[in-house]
Amino acid sequence: MNQIFMDDPDEQGRFGEFGGRFVPEALIPACLELEAAFKKAWADPSFHEELDALLRDFGGRPTPITYGERLSKELGIEVFFKREDLAHTGSHKINNVMGQALLTKRMGKTRMIAETGAGQHGVASATAAAKLGLGCDVYMGEVDTKRQALNVFRMELLGATVHPVTSGSRTLKDAVNEAMREWVTRVDDTHYCLGSVMGPHPFPWMVRSFQSVIGSEAHEQMNVRGVNPDYVVACVGGGSNAAGIFAGFANTPAQLIGVEAAGGSAINTGAPGVLHGMRSMLMQSESGQIEEAQSISAGLDYPGIGPEHAFLASSGRATYVSAHDDEVLDALQLLSRLEGIIPALETAHAIAWVVREAGSLIPKGSNVLINLSGRGDKDVAQVREILSARS
Ligand SMILES: *Cc1c(COP(=O)(O)O)cnc(C)c1O
Repeated sequence: MNQIFMDDPDEQGRFGEFGGRFVPEALIPACLELEAAFKKAWADPSFHEELDALLRDFGGRPTPITYGERLSKELGIEVFFKREDLAHTGSHKINNVMGQALLTKRMGKTRMIAETGAGQHGVASATAAAKLGLGCDVYMGEVDTKRQALNVFRMELLGATVHPVTSGSRTLKDAVNEAMREWVTRVDDTHYCLGSVMGPHPFPWMVRSFQSVIGSEAHEQMNVRGVNPDYVVACVGGGSNAAGIFAGFANTPAQLIGVEAAGGSAINTGAPGVLHGMRSMLMQSESGQIEEAQSISAGLDYPGIGPEHAFLASSGRATYVSAHDDEVLDALQLLSRLEGIIPALETAHAIAWVVREAGSLIPKGSNVLINLSGRGDKDVAQVREILSARS
């Protein structure tokens, strides 16, 4: 069982003043059923056996830790990477979707629905559904289906049906609304496979629990190396890869650092509010209208952040910083050249902060563990376009 060193939410699903379950009456039974099913499964060794076997034989776990020898020399610190980019489908997302797909079967349901922005969670959900023989419908803003046509095709190859969402700004937050509406109407045979540590209770807690395998493994692997990280750094969109690695180090002296996109920094530029069933930090105008996040990285442009991160920020246990598009592009190229790893644009935010702060906020000689949340293959066409327009 994964070692989790963070507190569970209270009975209402609150982490301090954040979290909770702010959903229409009609969705309460679905949330309660899911909470009960998750609690039962998580306490059941046979569920963990099955999930661990899937993550091992299908998902490619455990992922290794790589010492970044050349980057370390360049920066004057000791850098280690937790290699989620080597997991099946190219990121940490597989940990969450395999957990939720297995839970779907345990609940006797035959179909999963999912929301997706950039398409990565849709592809991961379609993958898990194919592996376990579940139906899969994915809701995606119409704007995003056009921007991410290749991911739409991937989902279709995997047997999923993609539904373009035409309400609101026709992007991720509208896709979440649509998936929740669909869940209400088909809750008897359908599970809503939410993609990050957000939404109503139990999702933030459940998704963090499924992602905590990252932190459990990393803690053990760093112990074996005899290295205690001074910093554990991860990029933050909704916050699932960060929550997963933080869960393994919250009881150590390590500083936990979440790196948001500068144009999507819910913690540092947002305010408390309610969206998508949770109370958290949200980017909003003075009148409380939710604002669209802006980032080079489609996976980080969610206007909110998971409630547990809002809590960890308010309690001071974790610190949230941001990285700008330009330094992110530089970091992506630096890691590619020095370490032979092309990271996802999301991941490059974490690298960018470490590169910027090495020798200043991060003292020389520090041990820094970076969660390499995903590989950059999906982003190279976009990066190429931006770089060629620059030169
Ligand atoms: C989706 C994604 C993210 C952002 O999601 P979190 O829930 O914040 O982890 C980060 N990195 C990669 C590679 C992703 O695919």
